[in-house]
Formats: sequence, C-alpha cells, structure tokens
Amino acid sequence: AEMRESRIKKTKTVCTYCGVGCSFDVWTKDREVLKVEPHPESPANGISTCVKGKFGWDYVNSEERLQRPLLRKGDHFEEVEWEEAIGFVAKRMKEIKAEKGSDHLGFISSSKATNEESYLMQKLARQVIGTNNIDNCSRYCQTPATKGLFRTVGHGGDSGSIDDIASAELVMTIGSNTAESHPVLASRIKRSQKLFNQKLYVFDLRKHEMAKRADKFIQPKSGTDLVWLSAVTKYILDQGWEDRSFLENWVNHFEEYRESLEPFTLEYASDMTGISIEELKQLADTIAHAESVAVCWAMGVTQHMRGADTSTAISNLLLITGNYGKPGTGAYPLRGHNNVQGCSDFGSMPSFYVGYEKTTDEDVRGKYEKAWGVELPGGTGKDNHQMIEAIHDGDLSAMYVMGEDTGIVDANINYVTAAFEKLDLFIVQDLFLTKTAEYADVVLPASPSLEKDGTFTNTERRIQRLYKALEPLEGTKPDWQIIQLIAQALGFDWGYSHPSQIMEEAAGLAEMFAGVSYERLQGYQTLQWPVQADGTDEPLLFTDGFPFKDKKAKLFPLEFELQYDTSEEYDLHVNNGRLLEHFHEGNMTYKSEGIARKTPNAFIEVSEELAKERGISEGAEVKLISESGEATGVVTVTDRVKGKEIFLPLNDSGKSAVNFLTDNRVDKDTNTPAYKEIAVKMKVLKKK
Ligand code: SF4
Repeated sequence: AEMRESRIKKTKTVCTYCGVGCSFDVWTKDREVLKVEPHPESPANGISTCVKGKFGWDYVNSEERLQRPLLRKGDHFEEVEWEEAIGFVAKRMKEIKAEKGSDHLGFISSSKATNEESYLMQKLARQVIGTNNIDNCSRYCQTPATKGLFRTVGHGGDSGSIDDIASAELVMTIGSNTAESHPVLASRIKRSQKLFNQKLYVFDLRKHEMAKRADKFIQPKSGTDLVWLSAVTKYILDQGWEDRSFLENWVNHFEEYRESLEPFTLEYASDMTGISIEELKQLADTIAHAESVAVCWAMGVTQHMRGADTSTAISNLLLITGNYGKPGTGAYPLRGHNNVQGCSDFGSMPSFYVGYEKTTDEDVRGKYEKAWGVELPGGTGKDNHQMIEAIHDGDLSAMYVMGEDTGIVDANINYVTAAFEKLDLFIVQDLFLTKTAEYADVVLPASPSLEKDGTFTNTERRIQRLYKALEPLEGTKPDWQIIQLIAQALGFDWGYSHPSQIMEEAAGLAEMFAGVSYERLQGYQTLQWPVQADGTDEPLLFTDGFPFKDKKAKLFPLEFELQYDTSEEYDLHVNNGRLLEHFHEGNMTYKSEGIARKTPNAFIEVSEELAKERGISEGAEVKLISESGEATGVVTVTDRVKGKEIFLPLNDSGKSAVNFLTDNRVDKDTNTPAYKEIAVKMKVLKKK
C-alpha cells in the first residue's frame, strides 16, 4: 500500500486550453491523471475550472500519440530514430539555405507551447537560419486587436486583470461567445451581475448564453461594429459627455479624430448596422455615464477585413470616455489559446523580437547580434498568410510548423494544403499525426504541457509556471529540446538544460521582462508584464500614462466601407466559433472520451425562418458551397441564429470543416483571415 501511495503525485500546472489561464494541481499516479484540483490561490480562477480543464486530459495518454519520429519514404512514413530525423532536418535546412537563401525557410510557433519554446523557435529562425520568417497562430485570431491597441495605447495586451472585468460597472462583450470560449471568465461576469448589479451589454450575431443573460443584447449586421462604435463615440462628443480632463492630460490627436467622425451620424449608423437611432443614443448615454467600462472582444471582431480598425474603434471609444488606467476599465481582447499571448510576447512574430522590440530597429538588432554572436537579418519577415502565398509563388521552399494544425485552422484549406504539397521540406512537430502532418516530410513527436516545465502567459498578461507532472511519453521530447537538437545539428550549441535558463536569457534581453525569473514565479506566484528589473509588475496598465514619449495615448481616425455582403447567388452568411466542450480543431478534446461522447459531431445551425423557407428540419443534411469549397453536415434548428445567418462550430476537421468555405480575404492591416465573412449557398441533400 505504501508503494502505491508513493506513486501518487501532486503537481501545479496551467490549463492547456483557453486564454483564461486557470491554474490548478493535477494528481497523477504513474501516467494516470487521477484528478484536477483547483487551488484557492490560483489568480485567474480561484477554485473554478471548466469542463475542459477538469476533464480534458485523456489525450495525454491517447493511443494515437506519436512515439517515434516519422520520415517520409515515397508515399508513406517510416519510423526512424531521433538521430536520423534530426540529421535529416538539419541537412535539408542547410541545403535549402545554401541553395535558395535563408528567406526560403519559414517557421510557425505554437500557442500551445511555452514562452521558452516560442523564444527558441524565433532564435532558431533568426540566429541559426538568418530569417525573420516566423509567426504564430495569433495571426489567425487576435493580431488585429494587438494592432488596434498598439496604435492607440501602446501595449497590445489586456489593460487590466479579470478582476477589473469583474469590478467594472458596465461590461461590454463584442463578438465574443464568452460562456463557451472563456467559461471561467464568463462565470466571473455572471457573478458580478448577480452580486454587484454589474451591467452586461452583449453585441453579437448569435444569441448565445451570455446574450440571453445580458441586460442588453444587440445584433448589429455582420462586419459593421466599427460603425456603431464610431457613431456612439461621435454622439458622446456631440453631447459633451466626453471625459474632458482625461483627454487634456492623456490623449493626442483629438481634433483630427473628431473631424474623422463626421460621416458617422446616427442615421448612417442605424442604416448600416440595423440598430435603431434610439438604441444608439441610449448606448452612448450608458457608456458615457458609467463609472467604469471594460470592453471584452474576440474573433467576432477581429476575423474581419476591418478587424484591426474595429479594434481601434473600441480603443478610441474608451479613450474618449476616459476608460483607461482606472480599476474596472480598459480593453480586453480575450486571448483564445492558453499561450497565444506569450507566443507573440516571446518573439515568434515576423516584425518583433521578444517584448515587441522591433526587428527594424538597429539598436535592438545590435543588442541581439551581440548576445547571439551572429549578424541578423534586417527588415521584417513573412507572416503565416504571406508564407503560404510565398510557397505558391515559389519564394518559400521549407516550413517548420510546431504544434499547429495549419491545414485545418488556416482559412481556405484547399489552397493551404496545395501549398504544402509544393514544399521541398516540410517539418511538423506535434503530438499526433494531424491533417497537417500528413503532408510532412518529417514528423517529430512532441510532449504536451503536462510533460514539461515552462511558463504560459494568459489573457491578463499573467506569466505562470507549469511544472512537469509526467515524464515525456517514451519516444517523445518537449519542444524546447527538439528545437535545441536541431540548432545543435546546425552548429549552434545552446547548452540549455532547463527552461529556466531560456527565460533568464530572454529576460536579460527584453525590457518588458527584465524582472522575470523562475524564482519570482514559484508555485502559484505570477507576474503580469511589463515586469521591472526589481520584480514589480503591472496588473493594471496606464495608471501613469501610456508608453509613448510624451506618455499620451493617440486617437486614431478611421474610415468605413462595407467590405463584404451576401449576393443573390451566395445568399447566406456563415458565422463560426467554439463550443464549450471542444477546443479548436478538436485534436485534443475529441480524445477525451467523456467530452467526445457528449458532443460527438459538428453541426450546422440554421434559424427557424430559414429552415421553414427551405423546407428542412432538425437532422436534415445540407451542403454549404462557397466560392472556395464546400462543407456538408447535419442541421440543427435553433433560435440562437436569425434570418440568413448560419453558424458552424469550428471544431470539426472532417467534411464540415469551416475552412473549406473560407477564402483568401484578410484584414488589411494584419493579414488575419476574414474567417467571419463567408457567403455561401445551401444545397439540401436530405430533408430529413
Ligand atoms: Fe482551461 Fe479556459 Fe476552462 Fe480555465 S476556462 S479550465 S483555462 S479551458
């Protein structure tokens, strides 16, 4: 009995799923995950978790885990030893670099991997290969939000903490299905609504759970959020309801911005968005007179052709009403993956080193050249989207993708997988043989979060440590070790024996993380960036101005033109998003038996009106056809969508994968695909 007891172990970890960043103790016995036990000191979640964090761990011991590197031999894979796989990768990388140049290689980091692993991936790209072609999946989700905030307030992260969202007098969520995508954060809002009378305004196309609970639920027409945001801001100014002293002390470009609002009259806005003039006036009144306003937004804003501009409009409104730098205020782009914030923070971006220091800044480059002992590439690299285009154009020949199922999650997957087939070298590093891995020349088996040490950064800019609960499954390695082996095979001996050394190096280079160390992050201790050298961090940003030379924020003028609409032929609009039980393409959650049983299939959600019009009912089979491709699935009829709106969960990687329908249109400022702007026609296959 004693022997058995001693094999039981309790380890602190951080959830591998969403950006809320719940932390908890995980109890294990050998490789078995016994239970997840939240800890009252967990800063983001206290004693709560959602179904994914609590039960979503079966994938770690899934039979489908890869346990040997795979090397393509003709049309099939052969299992090989690590040495052979790494040797092959290094040899081919070297050859391609010599033949075609460094910029023919591209690197994709993973928002599921740790901060330290993101740092190493960009170090491999820049120091070892000599290219800035490195990006991560924030390009698919929140880069437009980051851009909108950079432009206006200078930091691309949440302004405060989840506590601030919970203590705001008014919370607005825009294009966020918070209850399913960020469940524990949604619980905090629900609690504040109940206990402190917090007001909740929800703006969305779909009447999801939070919409039903909202004090006000508004359904603007797809892609028009920028218009009502700007019109409300204009009306606030016209009424003289702005925060005068805040504007005088902390904000630049007021006059220029005010002029740019001219076209956004109430009449125009009402016409474009479908929100009544009366409602717009009331909105302005409520927002301007609330003591504190926090705005949360997600993919419903960002995945549009004007995603960055709409994020900017949110920030403009917050500036005009003085809702920055005080508890309960600010901008909260809700980060999707557990470490999508950290992955960008730690340099896996084509234009930034660690801590958003620019690759185009000579001083920054000089600093890294000195630290790494090589000459580094100037300019900026290609982002995800540009890399795929470059493959089609013959300008990129090799790609190394870590922990991302690009062939399912990128937009227009027929186009993306056609690019994979053109690559001379395709390296995929993952837990499973994903759809993307099927196109690889070499597949490297990695270890998930429970099998490694490191740090993740949640949506609140909160850096948290995870400790190794299990040894890496036999035959697999943590990503940081794999990247290090490749660097070594290419002649760079980094010599890290623990991720803490990687963090120490990154913290020594980037101002934003100057005071970060593993000691300061022990157990449930956390730090929210920027972290000063003395270890003081900033749970609430902008309390003493904005990170610009004169400490003043910038109002940013915007224009609007409707980018997208349905047509006579493609008459339906497809919206898409997460389900509570599943995560993204479902590679992990579908391997948790209980979860898969509860929500086995994806579905196509249609409105009662549309079902009636087409003569279909629950269980009918339909095919959706866009200009890029088609998806088939089973219909569910609900009151969550209205009119000609259709909703597709994005968790399916089979026949109804939404990215068969999406196309190459992107946000003009960030190249983020406009996933939410798809027009389709519907063909009924079986009426039911
Ligand atoms: Fe994990 Fe997010 Fe659920 Fe928390 S809310 S347990 S971080 S998936």
